[in-house]
Amino acid sequence: MSGMAKKVVLIIKGDKQVTDIDRFRFLTIFMGIVHLILAGIGMRLTCQPVIIFSILIATVEISMLCAVRHMNNFLLGISTIYFATCFYSLTACIFLGWTFGFALYNLAIVPVLYYMIYMTKSISNSKRYALFYAIINGMITLMIRGYMYHRKPIYRYEGKTAFYISFFNHVVCFAFVIIFSTLFILELTRSREKLEKQAEELKHLADYDELTKLRNRRSMLDIWKRLGRNDYCVVMGDIDDFKKINDTYGHENGDDVLKLVANSMQEAIDSIDYVSRWGGEEFLMIVFGNLAYALKVIDKVQRELKNANLIVEGQRVEVTMTFGISECAGEQKGDIDELIRQADRRLYIGKHSGKNCIKIKDE
Ligand code: GH3
Ligand code: MG
Ligand code: MG
Repeated sequence: MSGMAKKVVLIIKGDKQVTDIDRFRFLTIFMGIVHLILAGIGMRLTCQPVIIFSILIATVEISMLCAVRHMNNFLLGISTIYFATCFYSLTACIFLGWTFGFALYNLAIVPVLYYMIYMTKSISNSKRYALFYAIINGMITLMIRGYMYHRKPIYRYEGKTAFYISFFNHVVCFAFVIIFSTLFILELTRSREKLEKQAEELKHLADYDELTKLRNRRSMLDIWKRLGRNDYCVVMGDIDDFKKINDTYGHENGDDVLKLVANSMQEAIDSIDYVSRWGGEEFLMIVFGNLAYALKVIDKVQRELKNANLIVEGQRVEVTMTFGISECAGEQKGDIDELIRQADRRLYIGKHSGKNCIKIKDE
C-alpha cells in the first residue's frame, strides 16, 4: 500500500490527525488528477481547448504543491488552486458553452474552500477570505452566465462530446463535495472527541487529589449539593499525630501513610458511598445508612490500618485515626454546613479525649 493510501486509512481510523500539508496535498492531487483526466477526455474527443487548459491547470496545481511545501504559505496555495479552478471552469464555459457542466466546479469548490481555510491552522485567523473569495466567484460566475446568454460558444462540438464531458463533470463535482465534506466531518468529529477527552481529564484533575486519588473537598461539596437523600452519615477522620509521623519517617513516608489511609477508606465503603481528602490529613466520608453502618465502615478502616505493614527502616509505622460522626436524620434536611460542623466538633472532642477513638455525640 502506498504511503498516501496508508495515511488515508489511518486518518479514517482516527489514528492520525490531518495536518495542513495533508489537506492541501489531498486537494491538489484530487484537482490535478481531475484535470489530467479531463485532458485525456479532451484528447479522446479531439477537443483542443479542453486538452490545453486541462494540462495547464494541472501543471499549476502540481507546482503549487511544491511551492507551498517550500514557502509554507497555505493561503497562497489554496487561493491559487481555488482561482485556477474557477478560471479554468469559466474559460471552458466561454469556449465550449454552459452545457458542458464546467460551471459546477465553481459551485462545488465553495464548501471545499471554507473547509480548507477554516481547518488550516496557519490561516485560520484569516477566515474572512473564504466569504470574500466565495462572493467574487459567485459574482463572476453569474456575470459569465449572463454574458453567455447572448453569445454562442467559441468552439462548437457535437452533442455527444458535451454529454460525456458534462457527465464526467457532474460525477467529479458530486464526488468532490462528498469526499471533502466527509473529511471535514471526520476532522470535526476527531477534534470534538479530543476536546471532550481533554475536558474529562481536566475535570478529573480538578476533582481528584493527585496523591491519594480521592475526591477533593470541592468535588465532594458538589456531589453533596446534588444529593437527593437524607439518610446518610458524615464521617470526618483525621490521622493522629501525623506531624510526628512526618518528622520521624520523613515527608515521603508521610505521603505513603496518606495513600494507605485513602486506600483503607476506599476499600471500607460501599460503591454508592463517597470518600474525599478534605484537607491535609483529614478525610471526609458520606456513607449511606444509619449510625451502625457508619461505625461498621470505620471499624473496617481501623482494622485495615492495624493490619497494614508499612515498614520504614525496619520499623513498623503505626497509624491510628480519630473520627467524628454526624448523622443526617430526615428532619435535618441535610444542612451540609451544620453536618460538617457537628462531625468536626466531635472529631475535635475525640482528639482531646486521647485520640484513636470515634465520637458520635458532642461530649
Ligand atoms: P492531631 O493528632 O491532633 O491531628 O495532630 P497532627 O500532627 O496529625 O496534626 P497537625 O495539624 O499538627 O499536623 C498535620 C500535618 O500534616 C502537618 C502537615 O505538614 C502534614 N501534611 C499536610 N499535608 C501533607 C501531605 O500532603 N503530605 C505529608 N507528608 N504531610 C502533610
Ligand atoms: Mg492529625
Ligand atoms: Mg488535622
